[in-house]
This record gives sequence, C-alpha cells and structure tokens, in this order.
Amino acid sequence: MARRGNSIVKGIEIDEVISLLNRAYADEWLAYYQYYIEEKVVKGIMKDAAIAELRQHAADELRHADMVARRILQLGGTPLLNPKEWFVHTNCGYDEPKDFDVVAILEDAIRGEQCAISTYSELAELTRGRDIVTYDIVSEILGDEVEHEEDLQALHDDITEFVESIKSGMKRQ
Ligand code: FE
Ligand code: FE
Ligand code: MG
Repeated sequence: MARRGNSIVKGIEIDEVISLLNRAYADEWLAYYQYYIEEKVVKGIMKDAAIAELRQHAADELRHADMVARRILQLGGTPLLNPKEWFVHTNCGYDEPKDFDVVAILEDAIRGEQCAISTYSELAELTRGRDIVTYDIVSEILGDEVEHEEDLQALHDDITEFVESIKSGMKRQ
C-alpha cells in the first residue's frame, strides 16, 4: 500500500473508493465475457463489422479490469478473488445473449455501455478533487465507454438502415 500516495486522498474514505472500484472491476470482467462470447455467436447481415468491433471492445474491457485492479491494490485493497463475487458486486450485471442476431447483440451491448457510462461518471463525480489518481483512471475509462457506445450505435444504425433499404427496394419491385 502506498502510504504517502494514500495520504493525498481527502474527503472520501479509502475503503469506500476500494469498494466502488471492486464493483467496477466486477462489471469489467462481466462486460469482457459478454463481448467475448457475443463475438463468437453473433449471426446475420454485416456480422463481420460487428465481430471486429465486439472483439476490440472485449480487449478494452479486459484492459479496464487491469487498470482498476492495479488501483485497488495501490489503495491497499484486494481485487475480488472469486468470479462468484462478480455477480454479488456488479452494477451493470450480465446480459446473456439469447438472440444471436447482430442487431439484438448490438442492442444488448449498447445497454451495457450506457450502464458503464453511468457508473464511471458517478465514480468521477465522487473522486473529483478527493482522489486525483482514481479520478484520472475512471475519467480515462469513461472516455473509452463513451466511444464504445458511439461505435456500437453507429454500427447498429448502419445495419438497420441497410436492412430497411433492402426491404423498401423489395416492395418497389
Ligand atoms: Fe470498460
Ligand atoms: Fe465498454
Ligand atoms: Mg470501438
């Protein structure tokens, strides 16, 4: 544990920061696995573009889990040691893909990113001016989650517009 490093945390209990970071840590692992499995089961039109995006996001979520775990350790905490605890501590839960169609998969993933954005913006609000190092980390992750939502939404809109244009083309014939 970084003693001087921790002495600069002011106006918020370190235990509270650790517990909030562990919740985010659980979210990142569940988000990682959701992308990991979605990329494998996804079906349908333009799925290759979705696969590339989902695979990239899986790598990002795993990197986020790593960033959060390192900060928990710096603060003197322990990252959750058992995957069973992910379900106890998660904010955003796990959205098991039930419909493998690319549009449904993207919609599940967008909901997950929206939850991540809320979680990290709350963490940023709580740590701003109180725990500068955690604030920097959660702000950086927040920027990635905003980009994730945007990428998925843009892809979702392209695919649904394309499907609509095919449908209206068929009607005209
Ligand atoms: Fe993430
Ligand atoms: Fe994300
Ligand atoms: Mg992306």
